[in-house]
Amino acid sequence: MGKLLVIGCGGVASVAIQKCAANSGVFSEICIASRTVEKCDALKSALEGKTKAIITTQRVDADSREQLVELIDRVKPEVVLNLALPYQDLTVMDACLETGVHYVDTANYEPEDTQDPEWRKIYESRCEREGFTAYFDYSWQWAYRERFKSAGLTALLGSGFDPGVTSVFTAYAKKHYFDEIHYIDILDCNGGDHGYPFATNFNPEINLREVSANGSYWEDGHWVETRPMEIKREYEFDGVGKKDMYLLHHEEIESLAKNLPEVKRIRFFMTFGESYLTHMKCLENVGMLSTEPIVYEGRKIVPIQFLKALLPDPASLGPRTKGKTNIGCIFTGVKDGVEKSVYIYNICDHQECYRELGSQAISYTTGVPAMIGAMLVMNGSWRVPGVYNLEELDPDPFMEALSVWGLPWTVDENPKLVD
Ligand code: NDP
Repeated sequence: MGKLLVIGCGGVASVAIQKCAANSGVFSEICIASRTVEKCDALKSALEGKTKAIITTQRVDADSREQLVELIDRVKPEVVLNLALPYQDLTVMDACLETGVHYVDTANYEPEDTQDPEWRKIYESRCEREGFTAYFDYSWQWAYRERFKSAGLTALLGSGFDPGVTSVFTAYAKKHYFDEIHYIDILDCNGGDHGYPFATNFNPEINLREVSANGSYWEDGHWVETRPMEIKREYEFDGVGKKDMYLLHHEEIESLAKNLPEVKRIRFFMTFGESYLTHMKCLENVGMLSTEPIVYEGRKIVPIQFLKALLPDPASLGPRTKGKTNIGCIFTGVKDGVEKSVYIYNICDHQECYRELGSQAISYTTGVPAMIGAMLVMNGSWRVPGVYNLEELDPDPFMEALSVWGLPWTVDENPKLVD
């Protein structure tokens, strides 16, 4: 039993906090702290009478290490669950180190201002050295490993679905089905329909930055970069049906390539409908996806942030979204000298998520693993000093918790492969 501090109170946090509240045997106290404290207060009111956990709220600007340190010192949590944006990862990690508290997040660090010259210099040399141009990478957070280790603290990186569950599926496949894994295809299919011509299922700024960037995959020890949406495949998803999917760069490829050195190729595919892609292309062509500030009527605005203000709040898509998600990994490798393939996936129904927690399945499939990651650090199962991606830890308690907390999984030992 312990106290959890959650930073952020958006779509993902709302699911994670409700699941933590339902798990009051582990999370006896939950403090919800975010920039807009009114959202935290509204969630606290909605949970009143439904949980034994003591819930409090605070306002915090997580871009400020000082504010975070002051907040953590006052609240005194055992674990901080960072569900704000990737921009805040480093300030929250710094504050955890300074106050001696464990850390969990769902997305790796990316700077808000990609034109910052100091960051840009490091970024450009990384692009040249590594061979991929995404704005995010793990080097910033992996650099904290020794400091967390010597402080006796755990930092768990990427405890969402992808990354997160996909990493746990990989560790589980390696532990129970393979001696060596040679190929991994991560397939993220959203068969849900929200009825809007264009909306994103999680934070629009982060989502559009990711989807409009170059694709890439890992092959034979190096990155192969592609143009955005250059590689397209069709796949028949259990529970959803046939969908077009496109190869994207995705953060877990980087950690899986490092942690499973025997892997020959890792690819990540995500499904998109025609309407989404056409809108995105058009917005990109007119400059609305740009992260570079422009001056409009004497005020600096960032086009993608203005677009975010126009688009539906992902947290509001719950009542409208119908259909299912199917996210998982196809592994090919060898066991006892014999080549085999295994597909591990979860199917999640948007309307069932909405009925249970008032949220659509994308927030649900991220919020549940965020709670599980925080739970395993809180209860000691995954309390190992250092900075870890999820595939580095024992997958069994996480896999067991997925079934208990709403994300049951299926193992298909005869899957159709992606060419
Ligand atoms: P939302 O935009 O819905 O929520 C973000 C929350 O963080 C909001 O409550 C926001 O406050 C708060 N916030 C933003 N900046 C600050 C700040 N400076 N100080 C304090 N609070 C702040 O995002 P989502 O819930 O959709 O996503 C949350 C995280 O989950 C993101 O990092 C996203 O990348 C990640 N994610 C991970 C996935 C995975 O599978 N691994 C999948 C989907 C998302 P305010 O209300 O004031 O805006």
